[in-house]
Amino acid sequence: MITLQVNNRPIEAQPGEMLLTALRRAGINVPTLCNLEQLTPTGACRLCVVEVEGQRNLMPSCAFPVAPGMKVWTHSPRALRARKTIVELLLANHPDDCLYCVRNNNCRLQQLAAELGVRQRRYFGARRQYHADTSSASIVRDPAKCILCGKCVRVCEEIQGVAAIDFIHRGSRAHVGTAFDQGLNVSSCINCGQCVMVCPTGALTEQSHIKEVVEALNHRLRAAAPRDGATANGGPLVVVQHAPAVSVTIAEELGLRPGADAAGILNAMLRRLGFDRVFDTSFSADLTVMEEAAELVHRIKTGGPLPLLTSCSPGWIKYVEEFHPDFVGNLSTCKSPQQMLGALIKSHLAECEGRDAADIYSVAIMPCTAKKFEAGRPELARHGLPDVDAVLTTRELLRLIRLRGLDPARLDPEPADSPFGERSSAGKLFGATGGVAEAALRTAHYLLTGQELPVARLKAVRGLDAVKQVTVKMGELEVHVAVVSGLANAGRLLDEIRTDRRHLHFVEVMTCPGGCIAGGGQPLGTDRAALRSRLDALYRIDRDAPLRAAHRNPTVRRLYEEFLGEPLSTRSHELLHTQYHAREVVH
Ligand code: SF4
Repeated sequence: MITLQVNNRPIEAQPGEMLLTALRRAGINVPTLCNLEQLTPTGACRLCVVEVEGQRNLMPSCAFPVAPGMKVWTHSPRALRARKTIVELLLANHPDDCLYCVRNNNCRLQQLAAELGVRQRRYFGARRQYHADTSSASIVRDPAKCILCGKCVRVCEEIQGVAAIDFIHRGSRAHVGTAFDQGLNVSSCINCGQCVMVCPTGALTEQSHIKEVVEALNHRLRAAAPRDGATANGGPLVVVQHAPAVSVTIAEELGLRPGADAAGILNAMLRRLGFDRVFDTSFSADLTVMEEAAELVHRIKTGGPLPLLTSCSPGWIKYVEEFHPDFVGNLSTCKSPQQMLGALIKSHLAECEGRDAADIYSVAIMPCTAKKFEAGRPELARHGLPDVDAVLTTRELLRLIRLRGLDPARLDPEPADSPFGERSSAGKLFGATGGVAEAALRTAHYLLTGQELPVARLKAVRGLDAVKQVTVKMGELEVHVAVVSGLANAGRLLDEIRTDRRHLHFVEVMTCPGGCIAGGGQPLGTDRAALRSRLDALYRIDRDAPLRAAHRNPTVRRLYEEFLGEPLSTRSHELLHTQYHAREVVH
């Protein structure tokens, strides 16, 4: 350790680290708009400038290495003046529509303007006019609100290995865009929303489905209580499912105990919002486990193609289609839990309710922006109808809850509805990296040996590490498994598999680093501590659950007996499986 003098007080720093890191550790908050902890600093925004003794100019602390005895002033009048001017210049080229912006009250630029005392516009100049790009099913880009911090560009390239967006032109014409400045829908974007998570302003947001969902709920409400002598026609049944990661996240935002599983409260809130039937996607995650474990065992016994690559993360699917089409055949043919439940809602539930599939409006609440794209994929529609009509992210759900003035503290937990009302904790584990592998291996082990797999043997796939591996003995067979999150990591693993790691049997990939708990549709400002608490909640649920394996779920068993037949049956294939194909994109 070395010692620096900061604001006339000593602080400790590690040799070689950047000044900003040491300042943060010492509890000295210096603002930045472009810095991302896990990525190389660029010093692009200059907001983190500080005075360093012996340096004529102010220095960007994010890109300035510490040195023994260094003397630093972080909030001197000169540094504060410089920061304020930077923010004023950014605002001079920014739309004045904060009140109407989706990031109002949650915008880093707005916060900094307030913190630095910006109270009037001092700089005026010609502004470039940009049109928002609304072409993507998942993401809306508004270059007029972009402050060129470059975080989205770096996340897309360095974390996701996609590089769908980059800086175009220089100087006053510089902006962030896609190849040939075309719509995001024809770019290589895999809809993960990680760019949205790091964007400090409203330049990147999700494609919202709130309006459609509210219309469906209102229509249902009007139909249930007709006015002016109109006859009730019932309207479409409005059905909702919520993903495993959502219920361990919303507690943080709703003033409940962080890290608590709020699934029961969520069911109650969704009913108060007007949904007719409420289901937990963890139930169909159990079905995914049943199908995927059977597929793994089948491929191991028949010689491949191996490794079997998981297919529940839609960003990953598009990434394989675009960047690694030689692995499309390795993808599991299982639909994701969202799409499996969507297909069952419009087939089995429709049958139980005596309705046509077209008379059901199916909503999914997901931690993921790519699920919006997935819901609209033509290969996942049946008879020209999508199985999922609208997808709300966790953020949109929270907006809807606030819009309707629901107070979760005054609600009692309620169970999910039949006929998909019971889940195992294996299905719940889908919310985090390693969870799908753990759940599938529990059932694959049972299929291969007739014995339950002790949970302790899968500990290696737990935790937030980006790459994990484990070998599991199943009878005579050694099953080699890798778990990876973040697509740049996944791309590297595929390269290794092509060369020297052909022995792998099963690979779980989650698009977002950490899995769905860190998905692109989750609350903004998610940090490592929030991820840890969501992850702990998932493992607590599993530890305390009476039902820990999908093949033990009595509701899943009954569904197979009464409707699906058995895993990989013709009906299962028709409803729960699909095929993906190589995809051409503009790179
Ligand atoms: Fe890149 Fe993901 Fe953003 Fe698309 S959604 S631009 S792939 S970070």
